[in-house]
Amino acid sequence: MNDPQPQRPASERREALKELYLKARSCERCPELAATRKTVVFGAGNADAELMFVGEAPGASEDEQGVPFVGRAGKLLETLLEEIGLSRSEVFIANVLKCRPPGNRDPQPIEISNCEDYLRGQVELIEPSVICTLGNFSTKLLREDPTGITRLHGRPEVLVLGSRAVRLYPIYHPAAALYTPRMLETLREDFSRLPELLALGAPEQPPPIETPSPVVAPAAAEASRPDPGGQRPPSSGEGPPADQLGLF
Ligand code: URA
Repeated sequence: MNDPQPQRPASERREALKELYLKARSCERCPELAATRKTVVFGAGNADAELMFVGEAPGASEDEQGVPFVGRAGKLLETLLEEIGLSRSEVFIANVLKCRPPGNRDPQPIEISNCEDYLRGQVELIEPSVICTLGNFSTKLLREDPTGITRLHGRPEVLVLGSRAVRLYPIYHPAAALYTPRMLETLREDFSRLPELLALGAPEQPPPIETPSPVVAPAAAEASRPDPGGQRPPSSGEGPPADQLGLF
């Protein structure tokens, strides 16, 4: 695999992912969604996955269970994964929106932009080689371009997201394929090319971003020395276990 970036250990990235989940769990950036949701559906799967899926937004079943893609579209996604020899637990599944839009309406632009940094944070921390965008919303968001899924599906491209390059692979949303046999056939064909894309590994990575070493003021330097008496308060990661943390 081509990866000159200094590697952050998977355990450290998973801890940071948990912190991000805890932040999302109490998010109120979208007042309507915060008032109507039952759960924040952060995402589920392997926190160190090579393959990540990004759907649109939770539906009613996802909102009930706190897990993405557990309804009919999710069952189809699982079947398609099985057909290429993968299981849900090997990949990471997330959505553009972490909260259900009431009545399953389309996500609004302000909601997409409010929620965007959770998704970008997930990508940064999971470090997938391949991101499969499911349908228009995630494809347009991550490509930062309005070109639709009908033109783009099944065509992998290398995209720099944050500090890393990934292979983006747009495909149809399984919910759309549920009702259109021709689309299901295309989705299956596109899915069948995933193993060869994964076999390529991560694309060539951009050079690491140089971060200037911080200028430490004397008081700050004092505070950052080891604390021999152990008098510091416990870190914020020591709170009670949260319900969805077992999902990744
Ligand atoms: N559709 C999505 O886009 N996401 C889900 O989690 C479920 C259905």
